[in-house]
Amino acid sequence: MSASIELKDIHWLIDMVQNIDVGLVVIDLEMNVQVWNGFMENHSGLLTAHVVDRKLNELFTDIPKDWLQQKLDTLCVLKNKAFTTWEQRPYLFKFKSYRPITSNSEFMYQNVTFLPLSDITQKVTQVCLIIYDVTDVALNKQMALEANRKLKHLSHTDTLTQLHNQGYWRECCQAEYKRHTRTQQPSSLIMLDIDHFKNVNDTYGHPFGDEVIKKVADCIRENMRETDIAGRYGGEEFALILVDTNLESAKLVADRIRASIEALALKHQNKVVKITSSFGVSHITGNVPNYENWIKTADLGLYIAKDTGRNKVVVSPH
Ligand code: GH3
Ligand code: MG
Ligand code: MG
Repeated sequence: MSASIELKDIHWLIDMVQNIDVGLVVIDLEMNVQVWNGFMENHSGLLTAHVVDRKLNELFTDIPKDWLQQKLDTLCVLKNKAFTTWEQRPYLFKFKSYRPITSNSEFMYQNVTFLPLSDITQKVTQVCLIIYDVTDVALNKQMALEANRKLKHLSHTDTLTQLHNQGYWRECCQAEYKRHTRTQQPSSLIMLDIDHFKNVNDTYGHPFGDEVIKKVADCIRENMRETDIAGRYGGEEFALILVDTNLESAKLVADRIRASIEALALKHQNKVVKITSSFGVSHITGNVPNYENWIKTADLGLYIAKDTGRNKVVVSPH
């Protein structure tokens, strides 16, 4: 600042600092507040007289003392600006947010710039904190992320059963095949198809058929682990990847699902309707050159199960 600066200019500067729509705080190296502008007064409800010469971390206990000390130490050494964004730390000062769309945010998101202030010997003696209200940016970004997450979920999910849809399940299957080639961990695949489902639809109607499909999906969910990957592969056909599972264990899982589908007591106008389903099981061996072939192999087991009486589990010949 020029030495010839006049008193009236300082008044302008003070006016600007007071009224600017960003927070300005100056602290010394002991964290004592030296400057506290109008923005800070308005949002904190604390007047300058109340905060000056008091420690920032004691006034705002959300600010971790060690973290602030480390910031100050770094600023003193590097003598460069430093930043924290709302993504790293949503706020430094917990101020209320007055946005009309407050549903997502009760507080003001902040980006903060730390500006080291030096004396004439270039020694850093104080640090200026510039606080930007970025609540709109943060909320918009969060809403966009949430919308993307929902879209992604929709594009991956079968609406009737909430299992993966065929496209996404195949993507997962390909990924699991690749994982196996890297790790050589066993991995198994179950394909299943409801028996004589056309009869169910024809006899009890399509809406009842939809209920049956949902119940079968529940049987799969109840018998799989969280890491397993279930999908609705077609109308009344399902596919299940059993991660880190050998053929023997996969066969047991398939049989558990088969038994729980057989045990379903579905009711149509007080009449109990029984259904069964058929299963093909395969695992990845040296003879399975790609994920499509892996699926085909399980499908072959399913075909044999259908051909040899249904309501059974067949391990595919490789
Ligand atoms: P199989 O034991 O050989 O599997 O005989 P199936 O009758 O189950 O097999 P098919 O492939 O002949 O018939 C499948 C039926 O599934 C025909 C189709 O209308 C019905 N379907 C496909 N998708 C849906 C759906 O989303 N809801 C309902 N309710 N039915 C569906
Ligand atoms: Mg069928
Ligand atoms: Mg079918």
